[in-house]
Amino acid sequence: MTVQKMLASNGKEDFNLFAITQVQLDAAAEVLELDPALHALLREPVREMHITFPVRMDDGTVQMFRGFRVQYNDARGPTKGGLRFHPNETIDMVRALAAWMTWKCAVVDIPLGGGKGGVACNTKILSKGELERVSRAYVRQMGRILGPEMDVPAPDMYTNPQVMAWMVDEYSVMQGHNDFGVITGKPLPLGGSKLRNDATARGGMYCIREAANALGINTQGATMAIQGFGNAGQYAAILGQKILGATIVAISDSKGGIYDPNGINPFHAIEHKLATGTIRDFTAEGAEPISNQDLLELDVDILAPSAMENMITSRNADHIRARIVAELANGPTVPEADNVLYQNGVYVIPDFLCNAGGVIVSYFEMVQNAYGYYWDEATVDARLDAKIAAAFQAVHKRAQELGVNNRVAAYCVAVERVAEAVRLRGWA
Ligand code: NAD
Repeated sequence: MTVQKMLASNGKEDFNLFAITQVQLDAAAEVLELDPALHALLREPVREMHITFPVRMDDGTVQMFRGFRVQYNDARGPTKGGLRFHPNETIDMVRALAAWMTWKCAVVDIPLGGGKGGVACNTKILSKGELERVSRAYVRQMGRILGPEMDVPAPDMYTNPQVMAWMVDEYSVMQGHNDFGVITGKPLPLGGSKLRNDATARGGMYCIREAANALGINTQGATMAIQGFGNAGQYAAILGQKILGATIVAISDSKGGIYDPNGINPFHAIEHKLATGTIRDFTAEGAEPISNQDLLELDVDILAPSAMENMITSRNADHIRARIVAELANGPTVPEADNVLYQNGVYVIPDFLCNAGGVIVSYFEMVQNAYGYYWDEATVDARLDAKIAAAFQAVHKRAQELGVNNRVAAYCVAVERVAEAVRLRGWA
């Protein structure tokens, strides 16, 4: 495998995420014996837009911002994917995430393609007014390629329902009428969906339930370690306890973690994180400090990487002792580590299946917007469960049939569906 590997100045292994998505696709293309022209088409985004736009700052000066939108593949429907506001946003990062969105929508069989967007900006130093003007200016430039029938953004890193509300308002002004379906992850009064907030973790818990059933593991009292304690990690702790009956024995964030074999109360942990900004020193109820590295290597039933990409590498893969690795984060495991985990019998639920709950409920939000009729919580929950459980079963079955790891199997299921749409449309 020819992953473009770079050694960062601090000596830490680093990887180009877009190159990783291409290597992962190549592995599936080989198994599927994909036609070379089709394979070449699926290795690259079909469309990208790069913009530069001015924003008036609070002090009266005008600052230029750079933004991107990548529409990776729209053969199966309008592209769908989050919008990130991050100072180090790069086009390769956005391309990688757009590619994963394509495979994610296909693997859970929703009629959407994959997209992603970003603005290079630091939300920590923008005032609320500046953030609103950046959000509106992005839509004024990018709006010409957005729309419920074309490309539908959603919140992602450092964007939130308020940002989505400003954007849907700006887009509606441009259209001359309300067009709520252009963006998902909106506040409820503007056409948001019930259960959107915890949908990513909720879908992950349903995948873990299915995996545990397949492996004969009882999740009641099963031990669970969670790396990362933001949106995905916090809801994973709450729902891991509620849906699976698991005992949360370890949690970490970027500053460090805590470990308690008797179980950590997720609600108290969240309160502490909100009050102090980190989980690291929440030891009042008997937990001990633990490093992020040691957390990954704990002997637990379930490990849920819910922080960042490139966390399980060839350096630590051999030390992972969890029976199930549920990838709520995008790209936490690099390709070399995948093989080691597979050989060691660790059951990996790959990211674009495990964290697909968010986009499934986003799709439900688009559907509800389209017909102007809103579902109750129980309906959203039951439909999410059915959709992601079916996707899990398709991937699990394919992995058994082909004798490949779950990531390759998930790619096979997803790529086959996109390839079929591309073929039927006569693109390759
Ligand atoms: P977030 O910013 O809310 O939380 C990230 C958490 O990870 C924070 O607690 C942070 O302190 C922690 N963290 C950062 N670096 C770390 C490190 N080196 N070690 C341990 N912890 C570290 O982000 P989020 O929305 O929870 O997203 C987390 C991951 O899940 C990302 O990969 C994201 O792409 C993926 N994801 C999230 C959603 C969603 O709906 N939120 C959907 C799909 C995928």
